[in-house]
Amino acid sequence: MRKINVLSPKFRVKEILDAIKICLDKGWSGMGFKTVEFEEAWKTYTGFQHAHFLQSNTVGLHLALNVFKNKKGWADGDEIISTPLTFVSTNHAILYERLTPVFADVDEFLCLDPKSVEDKITEKTRAVMYVGIGGNAGRLDKIREICDKHNLMLILDAAHLAGSYTNKTLRDGKDSVCHIGWEADVSIFSFQAVKNLPTADSGMICFKNQDYDALARHLSWLGIDKDTYSRSSDAGSYKWRYDVPNVGFKYHGNSIMASIGLVQLKYLDADNDYRNKVAQWYESLILETGLSSVLKIVPTSDYTVKSSRHLFQVLVDENFRDKIISELYESEIYPGVHYIDNTLYPMYSKSNGLCPNSHNFSKRLITLPIHLNITHDDCERVVLALKKILIS
Ligand SMILES: *Cc1c(COP(=O)(O)O)cnc(C)c1O
Repeated sequence: MRKINVLSPKFRVKEILDAIKICLDKGWSGMGFKTVEFEEAWKTYTGFQHAHFLQSNTVGLHLALNVFKNKKGWADGDEIISTPLTFVSTNHAILYERLTPVFADVDEFLCLDPKSVEDKITEKTRAVMYVGIGGNAGRLDKIREICDKHNLMLILDAAHLAGSYTNKTLRDGKDSVCHIGWEADVSIFSFQAVKNLPTADSGMICFKNQDYDALARHLSWLGIDKDTYSRSSDAGSYKWRYDVPNVGFKYHGNSIMASIGLVQLKYLDADNDYRNKVAQWYESLILETGLSSVLKIVPTSDYTVKSSRHLFQVLVDENFRDKIISELYESEIYPGVHYIDNTLYPMYSKSNGLCPNSHNFSKRLITLPIHLNITHDDCERVVLALKKILIS
């Protein structure tokens, strides 16, 4: 029987190899050239003002916090409100900067609940770290309002959001569709191998503010400043000379990854359309088979006009979740769980028990296989296997 994995990338191999070959022939595989082209293409695609290409989303999350801490004078121990229902990158980034993650609970969309966020705000709160789970933007608009009201930065972990759209109404009163992320002070995307725009590992950081974008660029190349000397009158004789005013990081992306990204970006909207079709197949099959009585599909918020459909998640009885997954494994179906409540890990365990929704969802969630190689037959196989396990 064919194996059905939860997530899996699709690469346009010929086109990608041709694009990479151009870099290799030119002798330019590092920063510049294709990375600049990809940044421009990403700005055009999203409509964002700034975009800087990085090695991953994880380093971007760290860089975002480092830049804000620098620019806004945040102190060690200042608080960042975040979600326990995420990949650990989101929260590790907060710890990298010696800031304190304060966990708020999630709503039915598995995203931060605005009410819970507001409850967690203290004098030491500096930012909200928001994750759009599975392509769902939850109630990001409400979170923006809260951040404005309390003068907090809004950081969007947009790892799942490449190709997710909302209405612009909130921004300028005109009803037009725009890419999710315009709400945030910074949005960080992941182009890791199983995300919607897969490269191998890379990411994009998109600041609203130009100064922050400039600082991020500077810090992502070890804090090196080439301009000081190139601007001076005898630049010609000092090409090798540069200044290093800051301790930066080696976080910038390279032209090989950018070449892959540029090819994949051309297909992103069509790929996401296909993912939405897979989600619709699951929805109808779940309804037709009567599975909806024992299994609940995680809803997509109204604010999300089009979800990237990075994930298709369902909730089952917590007493059977692990057993269901093991039994699906026996049919060569390999679902996933997104995510384990982060407060179960030792570095966040101080907050264990403070977010009951996240904790309970975490015990009930299953991610059904969703990617570009999933067919209607595959969906049927998954749903019938679930039916056999759940209703028999
Ligand atoms: C994948 C993922 C990340 C990390 O992305 P990388 O590009 O692998 O560093 C962060 N947050 C979430 C929610 C993710 O799913």
